[in-house]
This record gives sequence, C-alpha cells and structure tokens, in this order.
Amino acid sequence: EAGDIETIWQNGEFVDWDDATIHVLTHGLHYGTGIFEGARAYDTDNGTAIFRWEEHLDRFFASGKPYELEIPYSREELTEATLELLRRQDHDSAYIRPIAYFGYGSLGVSPDDCPTDVAVATWPWGAYLGEEALEHGIEVMVSSWRKHASSQIPTNAKTTGLYVNSLLAGEEARRNGYAEAIVLNKEGQVAEGPGENLFLVRDGEIYTPGLSQSILDGITRDTVITLARERGYTVHDQATISRGELNTADELFFTGSAAEVTPIRKVDNVEIGNGDRGPVTEEIQSAFFDLVERKTDAHDDWFTYL
Ligand code: PMP
Repeated sequence: EAGDIETIWQNGEFVDWDDATIHVLTHGLHYGTGIFEGARAYDTDNGTAIFRWEEHLDRFFASGKPYELEIPYSREELTEATLELLRRQDHDSAYIRPIAYFGYGSLGVSPDDCPTDVAVATWPWGAYLGEEALEHGIEVMVSSWRKHASSQIPTNAKTTGLYVNSLLAGEEARRNGYAEAIVLNKEGQVAEGPGENLFLVRDGEIYTPGLSQSILDGITRDTVITLARERGYTVHDQATISRGELNTADELFFTGSAAEVTPIRKVDNVEIGNGDRGPVTEEIQSAFFDLVERKTDAHDDWFTYL
C-alpha cells in the first residue's frame, strides 16, 4: 500500500528499509564471505505463494557449509519472517533475497570473531531480462571470462563473492551490446549464464550441463527438467556441451529464479534456429508459467502459500 514503510528482516527483527544498514568493516563486504538466495513469490490463482521455498532453504543452509557459516535461525523462523515481509508490504508477487554473511568483528581473513548476520528482503521485480525477452529471446555473447572451477571456489554454494565473475561476464556482454553472457568453464565447455542455467535443444531432445561442469545446481533447472520429462522429452541433465554446439543448436534458453525461462535467439550474432523463441522453449516456458501461477494442480507441494 502506498504510504507504508518498506520493511526488511534483519537479525531477527523487522526494521525500516532505510535503517537496514551494516558496519563498513563487515567481513563479508571485504572478502565476499556471504551466501544468499533468490526466490520468487507468485500471485497465483490460489493466492500469493513462494515457489520451491523449501529447496531454496535447503540450498541456503548448504551454501554456508564450505565456509563453516552457520545460520543462527531455523527454517521456520526464516519462513515466518519471509511470509510476514510479504504480508506487511502487501506484495502479491515479489523477488525474495535471503542473505547470511560474516559480520563486523575482526578483519583477519579468518572470521573467528565475526557474528553471522542474516537478513531477508522482498521487493516487486518483473521479468529479469524484460518482457520482450520472454517472448522473443535475447542476444548473448560467449564471455571471454571463464567461470571459476569448483576446485577453486565451490560453485554449488551460492556465495556472494562468486558474483564478481558474474558481473565481469555480464557487463562485458552489455558493453558489447548483448543482453547477457554465456560463461564457459575452465575446461572450455559451456557452463551457464552469470545468474542462469543453460539448456540446449537438438533433434527434439534437451541437454543441460551437469553439475560436474562447475555450475550452480539451479532450482529452476530442476523444475524445467521435471516439466520436460513429464511432457515426454528426453533430458540429458549431465551433458557436456562444447562451445561449437551452441551455434548449431535448434534452440537455447536460460533458466533461473530471476530469469525464469528466457529464450536465447542469437549467440555471438549467430542466429539460433530461426532466430526467435523455438517451439520446445515455448512449450516449456508456458508449462513453467502455468505451474507457478497455479493454472494447474500439479506439484502443489512446491508452493508455500501466504
Ligand atoms: N546459476 C547461477 C550462477 C545463478 O546465480 C543462478 C541464480 N540463482 C542460477 C544458475 C539459477 O538458479 P535458480 O534456478 O536456483 O535460481
């Protein structure tokens, strides 16, 4: 409602948006030692609901493990905080951003004396790459930056510091007139986007890089694999995709909580298929939106209703 003060949940309390500040010597600010999530609440036919919140919580807690970053709140507390944020701010649909990081305490690389601070924010956020992108796809470039290998930084943990690589790749693409990047892994195989997983369609079958390719284990990726298999598609979910296969693909698309299902119509100025959203992409995309808007009864256990 207009006039209401926007609210953020910070370390167990609801605080006004403008007051949700941190100390400049916060460990996570200096060393990228935080973990976060990005989920969405949808305005469904059955009311507002968070999509696959339990899986986002699973990944949130798991992401802290390599860093021994223990989140001092329970799943129930985080869930209640998030639902309350949606209620207080009257958000029918929203992007949801939980974050946990080593806070202010000491500035050695070892975070021994640092508390683990936790916050959740929600805000309305439309199509990540634009409405036009959902319908006609985006133009992307293969980045000159490689993704860090999982042997360098665990890529399956959604760590704040990892996103400097995403920024480098994404901004390089945008400086060159593209909407987004595709990032190869250290071995030169296709990994994913800066904030999206990648799918390829060839001869009616669907391929997506496997977890061994140094990707994030995307929740939308899992959703799309499930929806595609339910529709009879063969999905190769542990694929190794070479750069050259991008150009000769029938269709390509990105998936992500922010990006949802976004078609890719050109890579490095080469048209993919007919240079527009392909038929398989369209089918999967409409199945995805039917699902998250609850136009179907399927997978109701994937929804946490307000
Ligand atoms: N890869 C990266 C690097 C990401 O940041 C994201 C967004 N979380 C994804 C893939 C997609 O994951 P999800 O579908 O869980 O949002």
